[in-house]
Amino acid sequence: MRPDGLLDEVALVDHHCHGVIDATLDRQQFELLATEADLPGPTGSTFFDTQLGFAVRRWCAPVLDLESHVTPEVYVARRAELGPVEVNRRLLRAAGVSTFLVDTGYRGDELLTPAGMAATAEADAREVVRLETVAEHLVHRGVTAERFASAYAEALDAAAASAVGLKSIIAYRYGLDFDSARPSEREVRDAAGRWLRRDEGAAAPRLDDPVVLRHVLWAGVDLGLPVQFHVGFGDVDLDLRRCDPLAMTGFFRATQPLGVDLLLLHCYPFHRQAGYLAHVFPHVHMDVGLAVPYVGARAAAVIAESLELTPFHKLLYSSDAAGLAELHYLGALLFRRAFDEVVGRWTGDGLWSIADARRVARMIGAGNAERVYGLHR
Ligand SMILES: [Zn+2]
Repeated sequence: MRPDGLLDEVALVDHHCHGVIDATLDRQQFELLATEADLPGPTGSTFFDTQLGFAVRRWCAPVLDLESHVTPEVYVARRAELGPVEVNRRLLRAAGVSTFLVDTGYRGDELLTPAGMAATAEADAREVVRLETVAEHLVHRGVTAERFASAYAEALDAAAASAVGLKSIIAYRYGLDFDSARPSEREVRDAAGRWLRRDEGAAAPRLDDPVVLRHVLWAGVDLGLPVQFHVGFGDVDLDLRRCDPLAMTGFFRATQPLGVDLLLLHCYPFHRQAGYLAHVFPHVHMDVGLAVPYVGARAAAVIAESLELTPFHKLLYSSDAAGLAELHYLGALLFRRAFDEVVGRWTGDGLWSIADARRVARMIGAGNAERVYGLHR
């Protein structure tokens, strides 16, 4: 017997996402927010010709009172006609998310804040603080190399005062093959000096020094909040060859006794490697957010693979949606549908009991995130 809608009754906790844009978008602006590329495709082509583009036309169109599979022109025009407030309100509420954990470190001034997300979605929203962004703000405040380590610790403490987690983008700024050792005070001072000399006065300082990156990561570990890592695919700013989480094995060994939870985000196409790491390290967790809307009709295959080695108490739901409310809605909808398709097959074949399937759905959809981030504390 196949139960329908294993996750229908579960209000999801989206443990990693970003705010949405509160502005009317033209066709090109919409398309560039619906891809990980940062440039338009070949002349005459469209990013609507992707799994994500097809999923927008299939699933989001009805939420805007359109027929499924309307043309991209009709879709973008209807979006503009309704206006961003109404589009965001409809799609975010339709996602069925109870709590958004919002990474505020990426395009934070263009996207809705956690409070704005909470009001628009009629849900809760909590903040996740990006480690590198806190360091970059110190450059504007004229920090010296000598004061860098102590100023960073104070700034992180203040920035994270009401946050539920931290986020590292060392994958983007260096690679996951970083040296797992904590750098010495002297190494940090020297490296901070080099970085500050290069970036002081820059409009947008960019932390990419490997020693300073390791320092801010260890400062995050010291704070004790759960730390999220970008892993696997993302925009063109990263070198995907260096985003395999197996490269962090030394760091997992070094942090295992410290009592801090680590969360591997997205992971695709390394989600099986991430599943292995979540299997063997008690403090490592994972999700396949971001991948689910991008693989669209293939979401069930990715969800099935994420349910291979990953213990069920280590897998979490996230959308990693940013900018477009469509990504929040599709993240949740396709996750629910794919979970049902995969687990429904197992219950139908008598491999899992329906009671177990419902219990695991609740764990992955909300319970694991509530436990790791202490949301009910
Ligand atoms: Zn993200």
